Amino acid sequence: MIKKVHLRLTLLCTAVTGAIVIAMTLLYLYVSESNMRENHYYAFQNDVNNILNGLQNQSVLSSYYLASLEAGGRYLIFIEDNGSPLLYGNIVENEERMELLNKVKEYYQSSYEIIPGSTVTSLSSYHLEFIYTLPEGKFPMGQDYYACVAYLPAESGSLTAYILAPVSSFYQQLSRQRMLFATINLLALALLYLFFYRFTRHLLQPVVESQKKQNSFIASASHELRTPLSVILSCAALIPESGREKQEQFCHTIRQEGSVMKRLLSEMLSLADFDSRGMELHKEAHELDTLVLNSVETFEPVAKEKNIRLTSTLPDSSLPLCICDKHKIEQLLSILVHNAISYTNEGGSIQVTLKHAKKHFIISVADTGIGISDEDKKRIFERFYRADASHNAKEHFGLGLSIAQTIVKQHHGKLRVTDTEGGGSTFIVELG
Ligand code: ADP
Repeated sequence: MIKKVHLRLTLLCTAVTGAIVIAMTLLYLYVSESNMRENHYYAFQNDVNNILNGLQNQSVLSSYYLASLEAGGRYLIFIEDNGSPLLYGNIVENEERMELLNKVKEYYQSSYEIIPGSTVTSLSSYHLEFIYTLPEGKFPMGQDYYACVAYLPAESGSLTAYILAPVSSFYQQLSRQRMLFATINLLALALLYLFFYRFTRHLLQPVVESQKKQNSFIASASHELRTPLSVILSCAALIPESGREKQEQFCHTIRQEGSVMKRLLSEMLSLADFDSRGMELHKEAHELDTLVLNSVETFEPVAKEKNIRLTSTLPDSSLPLCICDKHKIEQLLSILVHNAISYTNEGGSIQVTLKHAKKHFIISVADTGIGISDEDKKRIFERFYRADASHNAKEHFGLGLSIAQTIVKQHHGKLRVTDTEGGGSTFIVELG
């Protein structure tokens, strides 16, 4: 389940950020290509102007000069001297070149209706640049040409120049750029996927932990409930065939186990309640010393029954009021004092102390009981954890300290445990 959510989140985040990255890249590519196209066309126009100037300034057109213009294959130049083609250098007007020239001428005449050398243009020099697209796949050079048709009046008649520049190499440059951007985008997507995979896993970690805790909570709860329930069921099964005395004994056991279940369920419910809604606190100003005294008084008879000395030490001077939830603090004190009595042997003693220092209230419950090993100190606040599971199993489910911890946390305080000097455990609560 979590794995599926993890994968979906990763894909969703990657898709959203990936789409943004790709959209931005496409926008950049569009702007950059538009600029490149414009610049490339301007460069052609510029070159054409230079070539035409050169042609106009040569009194005699040297074949070397004309051949040099075509060198490098950037331009195809056709010149007609008074209407007849001028051949120069190694240039042979082969069929392919002638076909290309004728097509450009055709296109030019049909599109612009100006015939070089006609009366319209015979008085002055004239040139026109345009982009010519060849019909499908005839010429290996590529389909698009920048073209210029120029009419240059000369002393002995006129020159007509057709200058063509194949755009294929420029298109190759554009497609190389597109490939580069596509590769960068793919790489970015892969990196985004890896990043979001780890990031969402980190985000989901608390959910995974909480699910684990929930599972172990349910497992432990079921385990704890199974014992009293099976006792109840066996007693109930035996009642019909037992004598009166036994029946009463079974009923007593059923009531006892029922109340164990009731207590366990109420502890579980309060923890489940904290988890789902958070603890609802009704904070008011209270005298903490009164709460401590009341709690000690409540447990005095139980302590006496076990021959344990339960005493309290309060400050002599009056204390400021503590803003807290009275019932929760009473619950906290009762968990700590009840535990202290449970885990202290007969003849031991328990000291509950209240101090106020540096704007903090410090309550400590110190017993001379069995103590808690360092290993167990790390785990006793976990739900259902019991240092000695067999000890007092019926009364203790290992939930008390979890509830105590939650109460203290909700009051923005701290709860810790240390050893009592001379043996036993001391639980210390710090409240703001
Ligand atoms: P329980 O209901 O089992 O007491 P708690 O959460 O209150 O559950 O305590 C968890 C475990 O911590 C207990 O099972 C016990 O082993 C240990 N513990 C708690 N308080 C004391 C104490 N005062 N002295 C020794 N051990 C204690």
